[in-house]
Amino acid sequence: MASTEHWTCPYCNRDCTLGSADIKYCRGDTYLAEDHGYALGNFKIRICPNLECRKLSINAGLYHKEEQYEDYTQIHEWQLIPEANAKPFPDFIPQQLRDDYFEACLIKDKSAKASATLSRRCLQGIIRDFWGIKGRTLFKEIAELEGKVDATTWEAIDSVRKVGNIGAHMEEDVNIIIDVDPEEAELLIWLIETLFEEWYIEKHTREEKMKRITAIAAQKSAQKNDKKS
Ligand SMILES: [Zn+2]
Repeated sequence: MASTEHWTCPYCNRDCTLGSADIKYCRGDTYLAEDHGYALGNFKIRICPNLECRKLSINAGLYHKEEQYEDYTQIHEWQLIPEANAKPFPDFIPQQLRDDYFEACLIKDKSAKASATLSRRCLQGIIRDFWGIKGRTLFKEIAELEGKVDATTWEAIDSVRKVGNIGAHMEEDVNIIIDVDPEEAELLIWLIETLFEEWYIEKHTREEKMKRITAIAAQKSAQKNDKKS
């Protein structure tokens, strides 16, 4: 049976199941030297099956083995294309916020510290832009949010606030660089993605729906008036 992989395209954000036609490998191995053994280089290329997208996502892996007929062990894997594991977000979300989010994703694996600094600034930017809240610290701004947002979202924000170094430093300026571990940096990125979806996208979708209802109602009433005259 051919193996399949469940995957979300980083360009079009569509969930899909990839089959053998959508995943290709490009690999080669070589003998390096007596003290380095054999090396295998591997490109894994995913082709988005969505006909409107069809973009390539490429990972590279480097593997090592001591002897010719041994199994390879992975040395490292890199995500090459796209550069960051960032989701695409629509342009009604302010550019500055999307830029901070994108860069937080871009730098995450190289520096959790730099990533978390960008994410904290982005989180503050979201709260200020979307809710018009402006407190002295992120901690105070989050406290002010309580009651304004739905309980589940508030709990998610509050649980991130309680985590390790992020929470410990929320009373300080968001631009202060703090030490965090990769899991904390990842958690902040998830929170930002959730807030983009729950606040900006939901509000936009709701507004579009309301506009459609208003337009349909206007159309119906015009039709009614036409029949009368
Ligand atoms: Zn795609």
